Amino acid sequence: MTVRERQASVRARRKKRGRRLMIAYALRGAIFLLLALMIILMVRGVLYIREHLASAPDSELPDGNMEPDDPALSELPIVPIEPAIPGEITIPDWIVQDILPVNEYSRPGIALSEVNGVVVHYTGNPGTTAEQNRSYFKNLAETKETYASSHFVIGMDGKIIQCVPLDAIAYCSNQRNDDTISIECCHSDDTGQFSQDTLDALVQLLNWLIKTYGLGRDDILRHYDVIGKECPYYFVKHPDAWEGLLNGLTYDNAF
Ligand SMILES: [Zn+2]
Repeated sequence: MTVRERQASVRARRKKRGRRLMIAYALRGAIFLLLALMIILMVRGVLYIREHLASAPDSELPDGNMEPDDPALSELPIVPIEPAIPGEITIPDWIVQDILPVNEYSRPGIALSEVNGVVVHYTGNPGTTAEQNRSYFKNLAETKETYASSHFVIGMDGKIIQCVPLDAIAYCSNQRNDDTISIECCHSDDTGQFSQDTLDALVQLLNWLIKTYGLGRDDILRHYDVIGKECPYYFVKHPDAWEGLLNGLTYDNAF
C-alpha cells in the first residue's frame, strides 16, 4: 500500500465514523423529542381530567320527599336572562335571599317569560325546615335524583328563604313553571296543615307578590289547580280554608 493509498483509506474510515456519529446524534435527538412530546401530552391529559371531571357527590338530605317535576322541562332552551333593571323589584328585608347556584336540576337559568300568577305548594316532607328544603334543592345538582325547586320556601317558624331569582324559572309547578312564581311551605305532619307563623308569612309574601305583579284573586293558585296534584295537601282537602286564605289577601286594583 502506497502512502497515498493509506491516506485515502484513513480518510474513508474517518468519513464512515463521522456518518455513524451523525446517525447516532440524529437518533438521540429524535428519541429526546419523542419523550418531550409524550411528557407534554401526559401533563395536558392530567390537567384536562382535573378540570372536567365532577367532584364526588356530597348529599346532605338525600331522603327528601319533594315533588318530582317534569324532566322534559330540562330540555327547554336556555334563554339568557336580561339583566334586571336596578331598582325595578326590591326584595323586602323580611325575605332571606339565599339563591341557589345555577344548575340543571334546580336552577336552570331559564328566564321567566312573564309572571301571571303564584302557585302555592306544601313540601310533602313533614318536619323539615326551610333551610333543609333549600339544601335539598341545592344538592340536586349533585344527586341528580329529580328536577325540583321553588322561588320561595317558608319555614314552620315563618322564615322566608328565596332560592331562585324572580326573573328565572323554578321547577315546581309543571306547565306553569314558565309564567308563575312558586312558594313551598313547610309543615309539621302528614295533615299538611301550615302553622300560624307559616300562614302569616305566606299571606305577607302573597300580598307583596300581588302588589308587585298586579295580580288578582284568580292568579293565586294551588299546585292542585294547575295539575290536579294533592298539593298543598291540607288546602286540597279543605277547599273552604283555601277560599278563606284567598279572601284574606289584599288585591290592589290600581294595576
Ligand atoms: Zn306542589
